[in-house]
Amino acid sequence: ADERAARAARMESLGQLASGVAHDFNNLLAIILNCTELVAEDTGDQVAGDLARIRNAADRAQELTSQLLLFAKREPVQVEIVDLNVVVTDATDLLSRAIGNNITLHCDTCSDALPVRANRGRLDQILLNLVVNARDAMPEGGTVTVTTGTTELSEGPAQTLPAGRYAQLAVSDNGTGMSAEVRDRIFEPFFTTKPVDQGTGLGLATVYGIVSDTGGTIIVDSTLRVGTTFRILLPIAD
Ligand code: ADP
Repeated sequence: ADERAARAARMESLGQLASGVAHDFNNLLAIILNCTELVAEDTGDQVAGDLARIRNAADRAQELTSQLLLFAKREPVQVEIVDLNVVVTDATDLLSRAIGNNITLHCDTCSDALPVRANRGRLDQILLNLVVNARDAMPEGGTVTVTTGTTELSEGPAQTLPAGRYAQLAVSDNGTGMSAEVRDRIFEPFFTTKPVDQGTGLGLATVYGIVSDTGGTIIVDSTLRVGTTFRILLPIAD
């Protein structure tokens, strides 16, 4: 019965996803079609601008479908033992380039090994999504801090994971923070507070899916105008 309920929930969220994507995709196609007509009537110096808009919308459409595919992907992915510290160290260069000039990236890995049983590419994706969100929360600049370590979970009424020690990946920012209303909805597919050409609302839904598949959990601490910390807890592999 549990499995049937889980399957029903999955079908429902896939249905929501499909209609959301169709809607966003349609808007992007409208931009593309519209600009194609404009190009036909353009004089010389307008062509480049309209082509850039077409290109932009097509890029966004592609990003949307690949994120959707990752989110909806149900076949088992290759799982290996990966050290969280290595994931962070290897990504540091790329991440500092991705976040831009007015933001400082601090990566602080712990000295213990942090082996987890997961797909490497998906761990990269978690880190990238969290860091990009942290950047977006600091339009005036600031610091993103990525740390690794371990954390002890104790038995509790709201605690669905077994008590014990977990590997932890934390991403903090000193950005806008979130209201309780936003905080309650961040893991919903397509929930976004960003302008339509900047957010798909699939980032944290994807992170949530990956972390649950990996047997972990996410803890969010956020204070308006102070900042946000996302902590990803994953079982330590033995
Ligand atoms: P997107 O980034 O495309 O909006 P996400 O699912 O990654 O989609 O995030 C959903 C929403 O959660 C964001 O639009 C934003 O409102 C909120 N959010 C996520 N990370 C942060 C953060 N570090 N600080 C403040 N708000 C955040």
